[in-house]
Amino acid sequence: MRVGQHVETGDKIGELGAQESLENGGYSFVTTRQQLLDLPPTTEKAWGTFSCNALYGDLDRVFFNPQEPSLVECTSKAIGLLSRNTTGFFLMVEGSEVDWGSHANDPVKVVSDYLAFDSAVAAAVDFARTDGSTEVLVFSDHDNGGMSLGARGDDYTSVSPGHVTGAIRRCSMTCTEFPDTLIRYKNANGPVDWSIIADRFRALMGIDSLTPEDMLYTIPESVNAGAANYEDIAKVGAILSRRCSIGWTTNGHTGNNVPIYSLLTPGLGTIDNTDIARYCAHLLGVDLRQTGNEFFVALNGLFSDVEASVTLNTTGVTDGKGFATIQTANTTVTLPFFKDFCTTADGRTVALPGITVYSQLNNTVYVAAATKDLITGVRIPLPFRVTYRDFTFSERDPATVTVFTITGRQIKTVRLTSGTTATIDFPSITSTLPAGCYTLRVTSHGTSHVNRFSIVR
Ligand SMILES: [Zn+2]
Repeated sequence: MRVGQHVETGDKIGELGAQESLENGGYSFVTTRQQLLDLPPTTEKAWGTFSCNALYGDLDRVFFNPQEPSLVECTSKAIGLLSRNTTGFFLMVEGSEVDWGSHANDPVKVVSDYLAFDSAVAAAVDFARTDGSTEVLVFSDHDNGGMSLGARGDDYTSVSPGHVTGAIRRCSMTCTEFPDTLIRYKNANGPVDWSIIADRFRALMGIDSLTPEDMLYTIPESVNAGAANYEDIAKVGAILSRRCSIGWTTNGHTGNNVPIYSLLTPGLGTIDNTDIARYCAHLLGVDLRQTGNEFFVALNGLFSDVEASVTLNTTGVTDGKGFATIQTANTTVTLPFFKDFCTTADGRTVALPGITVYSQLNNTVYVAAATKDLITGVRIPLPFRVTYRDFTFSERDPATVTVFTITGRQIKTVRLTSGTTATIDFPSITSTLPAGCYTLRVTSHGTSHVNRFSIVR
């Protein structure tokens, strides 16, 4: 639970160790709303980290940390920077705290953060309508809370829209953060009782008087004990929910289908949430089965036909730790979980062709298939020479051969305009390339062939 655990923006970011490596990678690193807004439109790569913990809800930001940007500000900035790419772009925006508001049965947080998300969607739709060749998909990854308009005991015909929205409109912060303000009050002024709490409810949540039913809760005891926990937040949520006739069936995710909206294909309706990935893959022209075979292969199976031992260390895996070790006759390599690099026995860090994923469900590590070539040492002789015999190249119908890093950075392109055989030398580049996996793409007659190769030194 994050109440009372916020770390002020900026003061511990250096400890993450991420800033230096991002800046080394050419990223503009920003930590405040103003720095984000001030990024020049020509910025190539940017990274924003505005809190060491979760960002505040949209309604709470002005109280607790106005240095944080809003979701629509992040979205608009991202669109501005990414849309300069002439080959297109992909942007994922999540209004993530609607989910937390639902877990806490906090109607104020759900509504205010959904409206913040709605503004972000509006920015994306405005861009897409002007651009004319952009799809905007809006969906939820799951339903949560089983929220209902009209709670048990309400007379449906007497619950007006104004009754529901009025109680929420009167709130100036979410139920989630309200207990934190009581704790701050207690720390400054001493223990709280129901009269003080009633006063705070009046000032911050627009509730003029608490009922005996509200006061059955143990909020004063929890606050005076020094911590507001999940149950306290739920109690504040319940006090508000009663006043706006919003009901809840659970504190957790439900199995309901979720709505999906498409700018280019209106009327998609609702969808099983596991079908969202398939729909996105269909739009992007990605074959999920092939992608899985390429980037999500069980590590043990991958090395079963070579002399290698694979061991897993899952200590601390829930805190982002854990690693796999692969020992071959020639080398020992360590692959940290959820990272895209490995470390060699002599301490070097080598980029992997994919991310090392550990699944607790079956105690299995998954890696990109090309990881095997990298580790078992498919050595590329230097200088590196590629020969193609199956193409006919001409000035009218040329072929291009391009070498990319696995992150997509283009290293070298050679254009072939004559003959049926091509020999491409990359001595100057391959002798300077760091060890790692690379992609070689040959495009001719309108089709592309992709090969991966690795350089191990
Ligand atoms: Zn959740």
